[in-house]
Amino acid sequence: EVWGAGARFVGGADGVETLMGRGSELDSEWRADYLFSCLEARIRSRRASDRKIEFYFGLEVAPGGYAWAFPRGGNEWNVGLGVDAARSDRVPAYVFFERFLARFDPEAEILEKIAGAACRSRSLRRIAGDGVLLVGDAAHQGNPMTGGGIMNAMEAGDLAGRVGAEALRDGDAAETRLARYEKEWSRTVGASNDRYLRLADLLYRSYGDDDLEKIWTGMEAFFRRREKSGSVPAALAAALSFPPDFVRAAVPVLMSFQNRRILF
Ligand SMILES: Cc1cc2nc3c(=O)[nH]c(=O)nc-3n(C[C@H](O)[C@H](O)[C@H](O)COP(=O)(O)OP(=O)(O)OC[C@H]3O[C@@H](n4cnc5c(N)ncnc54)[C@H](O)[C@@H]3O)c2cc1C
Repeated sequence: EVWGAGARFVGGADGVETLMGRGSELDSEWRADYLFSCLEARIRSRRASDRKIEFYFGLEVAPGGYAWAFPRGGNEWNVGLGVDAARSDRVPAYVFFERFLARFDPEAEILEKIAGAACRSRSLRRIAGDGVLLVGDAAHQGNPMTGGGIMNAMEAGDLAGRVGAEALRDGDAAETRLARYEKEWSRTVGASNDRYLRLADLLYRSYGDDDLEKIWTGMEAFFRRREKSGSVPAALAAALSFPPDFVRAAVPVLMSFQNRRILF
């Protein structure tokens, strides 16, 4: 059965493969090098948890990305990883995942698996058109360093909802009106994502394991000092061991933590 439907305003929040983005005139091109290829599993493990989340980096573990282990409570964990096809010689994510899980806990029981892609791209320039907005992964709004996109998608959804509702109330959902969403996003989280992308390109595309070791050790010192002193500038001394190009890219990101409670 073929049927049609019309709307004065549509929010395209249909995820990474977005039909709305690809079917509209908006900017939503996806390329393999804009993505982390991910595999995650909920597992039952006898491995003890001290309730902290764990991250693992390195070319052997997850080239161009990272692996994670999040304790869920009881004896369950979410473990997974994302890799960058540009750095993994086209070896699929599941090969790295199986290797990682065997090291994490060879006795783990897999309860559920989720495969998918996460964003590692620049902010899109055009996410508002006549009667249409793109939101969340459909608009490449995930953090390109972490691939995390839930919080950004929620912030974008809130902004898009407010701009869309005002436009409908005034009977004008033209692009000129909806462009306020695009402008506000680019000025705030979009600009922050572009800073993260510079870091992501260094971390995942340029550096080898020795650089990563220095950087994550320095990051740990930075966050400890910030916790102790409560001040970002005071904690920046910890960044002295970082490669100079990393310092240039990282300082604007670290400074923006001054007023944020959460890391990403
Ligand atoms: C393995 C993995 C682990 C992740 N872990 C984290 C994490 O720990 N933290 C974090 O912040 N982010 C994480 N992410 C990223 C996060 O999942 C996404 O950034 C986030 O879900 C984006 O939200 P969204 O609403 O834009 O898209 P989605 O959550 O993908 O939602 C899109 C929805 O649209 C529906 N849809 C699609 N097409 C159509 C259609 N034609 N008609 C009707 N419905 C349609 C889909 O079924 C889906 O329900 C992870 C991603 C992966 C792949």
